[in-house]
Amino acid sequence: MVKMKVPFYRHSLNNLDAMKIADVISSPFLTSGPVCKEVEAQLCDYFAVKHAKLVNSWTNGAVATLLALDIGPGDEVIVPAMTFIATANVVELVGATPIFVDCDPETLLITPNQIKGSITEKTKAIIPVHMYGQMCDIKAIKECLPKDKKVFIIEDCAHTFEAKFNGNRPGTFSDVSIFSFYATKNVTCGEGGAIITNDAKIYERIIQSVLHGMSASAADRFKEGKYNHWGMEHLGTKANLPDLLACLLSEQIKLVDKKLSIREEKANFYKSKLKNSKFKIPKEQNNIIHSRHLFPIGVGMKNRDQILNILSENNIGVTVNYRSVPTMNYYKKKYNIKNEIFANSYQWGEETLSLPLFPSMSQSEQEYVVKILLDKIEPMVGD
Ligand SMILES: *Cc1c(COP(=O)(O)O)cnc(C)c1O
Repeated sequence: MVKMKVPFYRHSLNNLDAMKIADVISSPFLTSGPVCKEVEAQLCDYFAVKHAKLVNSWTNGAVATLLALDIGPGDEVIVPAMTFIATANVVELVGATPIFVDCDPETLLITPNQIKGSITEKTKAIIPVHMYGQMCDIKAIKECLPKDKKVFIIEDCAHTFEAKFNGNRPGTFSDVSIFSFYATKNVTCGEGGAIITNDAKIYERIIQSVLHGMSASAADRFKEGKYNHWGMEHLGTKANLPDLLACLLSEQIKLVDKKLSIREEKANFYKSKLKNSKFKIPKEQNNIIHSRHLFPIGVGMKNRDQILNILSENNIGVTVNYRSVPTMNYYKKKYNIKNEIFANSYQWGEETLSLPLFPSMSQSEQEYVVKILLDKIEPMVGD
């Protein structure tokens, strides 16, 4: 068989996008200005929400959100054990305590069952993650939260922009939803993100907490041709997205649903070819639209790392999304966490790997990946 080189991911920005950056450079405004405003309106439209704020990463957007919700030392925030470290790190960064919950072994998502036992008087928020592009049941999660006190729901939408659960997009049942436009995400401007909410009060706080806590943005400080003083009531961080990057988003948002049908075709190809194999594929719930961000498979714990090497030797780009967060030394040591406590997350984290999946992936690239998987890797799949 001819050896091919298949990257894990290939972005699809092009010369037209370069021209958009050139347009911003030739305008007087480089940082958050008119381009951001336009994209924010586009986001409100797409998600049918009242407010949107572009940020320079999911991570900084989440820190700004936790600050805006006054979450800090003494507070607990529930996070999945099976996620990218950023979901828990932001809780640590504001001085609050992440309370990990295990995932469902089949869907890899958190469910009300796992969450219920972790709620205490100190619980201020929960950050459900729509892993790989499959949404959690946010409505069910909301129903399992205490009725006599506010527990904020902050959706981690880093893996999804275009997904739906029972016809609903992110942002429908939560207080805040946060997206990532990092280089490999379905919608990208290299580094970036967005926060959406229907709550005017939360939005007012967020637009300050993304900008040092200042009471007026750069654009607003110079409104009507004169300088306006600003104040500071609350502590903030620096999380605003510049127009220089925001200009890359508009076209992608317009095309995101069309691109999804291409991602869907590629995912279905993998699914049909691997259906009767020993590879484990995450279970999908009914009545969902999956954003097909990542295509992880389970290959058993025993040979996973060797399998990663063999795929790399065959020029196939692979990653691991993710090893369970509480198995990372920082968390393991700080909270004295044993691997067995979050057994489903631990097991999946030690047996999973993600296959290449991106819209410009060619048929022959995908056939090559499947061939290597079935010929060389499947015989190695263990427990
Ligand atoms: C990528 C990612 C993040 C962090 O996004 P940044 O924009 O890089 O900060 C957070 N959560 C999940 C699940 C992610 O995959």
